Amino acid sequence: MQVKTDFDMVVIGGGIVGLACAYKIASVHANLRIAVLEKEGRLAAHQTGHNSGVIHSGLHYEPGSAKAATCTAGREELVEFARSHDIRHDICGKIIVATDPSELPALERIHRNGLANGVEGLERIGPERIKEIEPCAAGIAALHVPSAGIIDFVAVANKLAELIQEASRRNKVLVYHLVLGFDKHDFYTNVRTTKGTFSTRHVINCAGLQSDRIARMDGIDPPVRIVPFRGDYSVLSSGAASKVRNLIYPVPDPRFPFLGVHFTRMVDGSVECGPNAVFAFKREGYRKAEVSFRDTWESLSYPGTWLLFARHWRYGLGEYARAFRKRLLVGQLQRLVPSLAAEDIQPGNAGVRAQALGPKGNLVDDFKIEVRGNAIHVLNAPSPAATASLAIGNHISQLATERFGL
Ligand SMILES: Cc1cc2nc3c(=O)[nH]c(=O)nc-3n(C[C@H](O)[C@H](O)[C@H](O)COP(=O)(O)OP(=O)(O)OC[C@H]3O[C@@H](n4cnc5c(N)ncnc54)[C@H](O)[C@@H]3O)c2cc1C
Repeated sequence: MQVKTDFDMVVIGGGIVGLACAYKIASVHANLRIAVLEKEGRLAAHQTGHNSGVIHSGLHYEPGSAKAATCTAGREELVEFARSHDIRHDICGKIIVATDPSELPALERIHRNGLANGVEGLERIGPERIKEIEPCAAGIAALHVPSAGIIDFVAVANKLAELIQEASRRNKVLVYHLVLGFDKHDFYTNVRTTKGTFSTRHVINCAGLQSDRIARMDGIDPPVRIVPFRGDYSVLSSGAASKVRNLIYPVPDPRFPFLGVHFTRMVDGSVECGPNAVFAFKREGYRKAEVSFRDTWESLSYPGTWLLFARHWRYGLGEYARAFRKRLLVGQLQRLVPSLAAEDIQPGNAGVRAQALGPKGNLVDDFKIEVRGNAIHVLNAPSPAATASLAIGNHISQLATERFGL
């Protein structure tokens, strides 16, 4: 039976961005009736539940960008949120390690960005101090970032859902609600789902890997296409986990918005290494062999994808080779932690990044949020959007207040 339910605001996507937006709007506008619609049977089922669990500090991002602004502000708010709601986290710090002189200019640039973005406590360190912080790591220079940390993002998402529903008994966070399409009317939209139709005055699209499709359902032609990039993780065996105390990162290749294969101590004490970045044949496929013909067709029929391949084929092939040949991955990890052996590294989970790609093959680096009519579409929210989620929520709440006259 189709149920028709009236809401003021429907947020599509029960990942950390959708939940943070709904939470912030609910905090400011207690009179609004808000529904968060999530297609899976649990919250944080995709990017939010498949990431590195790192609280970023904001040093990788171009000063003045939305990423820089929201990461720095969002980090502080997230840590405060975790403290007040008893969510597992640890501000353990990280080091970004240069292992070759050719990486020093990029390390310098990250340092300058960090200072410009107001990241606290940054310190350029040498090989001896690297050893004091991470006894098994090796490098010629590094940046020590004491404000970085680790957190359980799934627990954050679940707590946000709880608070949204506590803010008003009329608010709902609903799983198993796959959004199928919209029927637009003058003053409201009917959002059709697998569990009935929701009539609403406003829509916020936070559908992550599906955000461009939701935008198209709303009748707009988004200026970007989501192209999925899978990231495979490995885990250190229990015997080798002590070789990494906290977070050890390489100097990232400045041409790509990915941070490179790093070591992360998770909140449960295990140590992950990864993720790589390979073109994925399925938007929500977490195994190497998973293919969706629809997803692959949509990626490969987009001219931007071929322009990206043409420009970066060498990097792409290298990532593929490391995904399939453990020896190459081990070599990459040994640059940061030389005593690691192949048997220390075991297969782990994977995540898929929703990476917005422009028609000219440009990887859209910054967050991309567009207002169209009665809808706000979050078209690109890659890393550090989990760290920045509460600040993104503030921004969208403000945008909705102004543009929708709430
Ligand atoms: C491998 C990897 C590592 C990362 N590491 C970090 C990190 O350490 N720190 C950090 O800050 N960030 C990190 N990120 C980035 C961060 O995880 C994402 O930016 C963030 O989770 C995005 O949240 P989201 O809510 O936009 O997307 P998602 O978490 O993907 O949520 C979108 C939701 O929308 C739902 N949805 C989609 N279509 C529909 C539909 N039609 N109907 C209803 N629901 C729908 C999906 O099921 C999903 O739950 C990482 C990302 C990846 C992939």
